[in-house]
Amino acid sequence: MYSLSENKLPKQQTPYYLYDSSLLKATLAQITDYTATSPFKVHYAIKACANPAILDIIAKAGFGADCVSGGEIKAAVKAGFNPESIVYAGVGKSDEEIRYALSCGIGCFNVESVEELEIIQEIAAAESKIATVALRVNPDIDAHTHHYITTGLKENKFGIDLRMLDNAVAKATNMANIKLCGLHFHIGSQITTMEPFVLLCKKINQLLAKFQSEGINITQVNVGGGLGIDYEHPDENPFAPFKPYFDTFRQNLDSGKISLVHFELGRSVVAQCGTLISRVLYVKQGVNKKFVIIDAGMNDLLRPALYGAHHNIENISNTDSTAVERYDVVGPICESSDIFATDELLPITQRGDLIAIRSAGAYGETMASTYNMRTLTPYVIV
Ligand SMILES: *Cc1c(COP(=O)(O)O)cnc(C)c1O
Repeated sequence: MYSLSENKLPKQQTPYYLYDSSLLKATLAQITDYTATSPFKVHYAIKACANPAILDIIAKAGFGADCVSGGEIKAAVKAGFNPESIVYAGVGKSDEEIRYALSCGIGCFNVESVEELEIIQEIAAAESKIATVALRVNPDIDAHTHHYITTGLKENKFGIDLRMLDNAVAKATNMANIKLCGLHFHIGSQITTMEPFVLLCKKINQLLAKFQSEGINITQVNVGGGLGIDYEHPDENPFAPFKPYFDTFRQNLDSGKISLVHFELGRSVVAQCGTLISRVLYVKQGVNKKFVIIDAGMNDLLRPALYGAHHNIENISNTDSTAVERYDVVGPICESSDIFATDELLPITQRGDLIAIRSAGAYGETMASTYNMRTLTPYVIV
């Protein structure tokens, strides 16, 4: 794996994203290994990182793609993902996006409401096409994660409520241009224990048994993504717990009823291979605190400001941890939430030092903006 030492870093103006292709490839190889002997198909969730160099590596590794917009479908097709292996979710698919997805021949629409189902039927009929769909079910499972990234609770905007599912399934099976292929679930993100996934499996088994008893044979499920990573110890745990994760589904899903299980992993695929590299502009003495002001801001990496997320922060110019100090590490943006960490223990830090913000490969570059008229964050892949 690439080691973050100052003299080996590329000569690139900070801030920038640094991607480690060997770590990404090792991660993809693990996933492939742990899914090889089961009817499991993994789709990479493009929204985690749509960098073309990253997409190229993931497409070549034979993964499918999970998209949440027409733009992502376009990026996936361009990167060489097989259209048939593209699944498409999203509560607000526009007519243009639905038409575009149909024209690409994507594998499956993950449909989030009866209202959407009716529009897909209408558009598919007008184009004399058959749209393959899975109904996204809101299973009402608490993923025990941040409330902004839990998606499977009752009051959430995502998916079809369990009480409305029978109606949606009946409608889908009766529509001439809709082929119902399965049920879709995605309960949240950065899930670090297996318990929510076990609950999900049990719910899926119940639902499939119920439909089977009513003569409706649903044999494919998409269990979404959400597997978490270790933000605090990226070196000790460079890989998400893929083995327990896939074992959980192997052991808990009723294999007698299911012919194919789709997964949609985003964060766990790309988070650890990305680092945001920035430089210290000032070490500012406050009244009670010292601020390390770096040249990366919330426009480059939004997660801390958006979710209060914490990334491991390292001074790669001074690694001498025998003399440390507590700093608030902040960006230059004119927002009080532009803070990467408070009271972070770092080696004595000075102007010009390089700072690495770790585990930034997922929901980093994809969320970057030009807020404050800043340059869109560049990247280097090594
Ligand atoms: C975001 C998303 C994923 C990926 O989630 P991760 O936590 O990054 O694995 C999968 N499926 C859907 C529908 C999503 O919206």
